Amino acid sequence: MTRTRMPFAAPAPRDDAAEVRAAIDRVVSSGWFILGPEVEAFEAEFADATGAAHAVGVGNGTDALALILRALGIGAGDEVITTPLSAAYTALAVIMAGARPVFADIDPARMTIDADAAERAVTPRTRALLPVHLYGQAADMAALERVAARHNLAMVEDCCQAHLATAAGRPVGTIGVAGAFSFYPTKNLGALGDGGAVTTRDPALAERVRRLRNGGQTARYQHEEAGVNSRLDELQAAILRARLPFLRGWTASRRTLAAGYRAGLSGTSVRVPPELDSGHVYHLFVVQTGNRAALQQHLATQEISTLVHYPTPIPRQRAFAASRPAHCPLADTACNELLSLPLYPGLDDVDLQRVVRAIGEFQEV
Ligand SMILES: *Cc1c(COP(=O)(O)O)cnc(C)c1O
Repeated sequence: MTRTRMPFAAPAPRDDAAEVRAAIDRVVSSGWFILGPEVEAFEAEFADATGAAHAVGVGNGTDALALILRALGIGAGDEVITTPLSAAYTALAVIMAGARPVFADIDPARMTIDADAAERAVTPRTRALLPVHLYGQAADMAALERVAARHNLAMVEDCCQAHLATAAGRPVGTIGVAGAFSFYPTKNLGALGDGGAVTTRDPALAERVRRLRNGGQTARYQHEEAGVNSRLDELQAAILRARLPFLRGWTASRRTLAAGYRAGLSGTSVRVPPELDSGHVYHLFVVQTGNRAALQQHLATQEISTLVHYPTPIPRQRAFAASRPAHCPLADTACNELLSLPLYPGLDDVDLQRVVRAIGEFQEV
């Protein structure tokens, strides 16, 4: 029997292909490519979908985070407390803003930043908490909000893996002062290139991000402050508008697939993540095993693609050598044991059962 290789993700348009092509054609024939009607319409539609008062399209998720921090006046001499277990871009954004990332260990059940550890990391220089809603599940926002309130810290949410997720019923990106979203092609809502957005209820903050993304201009050729060039382009905005109406359905598919994995993998050698919030949108389905290399190899021989999110805690990356030494033993363990299984809308049940079977067989070898 020849088996086709099962991809890890499937970012090419599928059920949305006709709408995406129509959107591309519309922009190409319009002849207008930067900051125009598509970006404006997408901002309104994305704000509506996420429950935020304002959304501002930017170049990518990293810039979304950095621009939020800059717009809040957080920079040189300031500290931002974040998680060691995320895409390094979360912490790179803090450095881009001129501030210093400080790492607080994870809650090993939720895999997101632990509120007590975050509180222990607070110093007189701390200005913000930057939790990541990792793998599609919200961080423990109620506990983090108490820490933020006690120490007068801004709460900035990294929602790059959590489009439409909720935290105890509250939409992510509307809980803190602002949320950062990425539309990298493999995210739950992906562009066909880079893209990002900032959500906020604060009109002044939205306006400042709008200005910063466009060179700090208040009017054409009037640079009020030293901004950056980080605009969502018209083509990506039109593509995102075409895909946004599919997002609820895709999210439901992700949740169904996760339930299938959960049922199929119980009783196998891997530990299945607890679902601590029904607002989990399963950007990734990540299992834990003390025997990761062998399991990953076993799945590879069965033509099943897996990835590791993430192999190295951010503070252990050389790029962060200058940051305060971080003691994050739980993140260290997680990084050695986590394995992400294929999960994307369009993964069918036959493929899912193939993964489940392969993992079931693994414990017998
Ligand atoms: C993808 C991602 C980012 C960065 O987004 P880009 O659009 O690639 O810049 C930041 N944080 C998290 C948690 C991500 O998953």
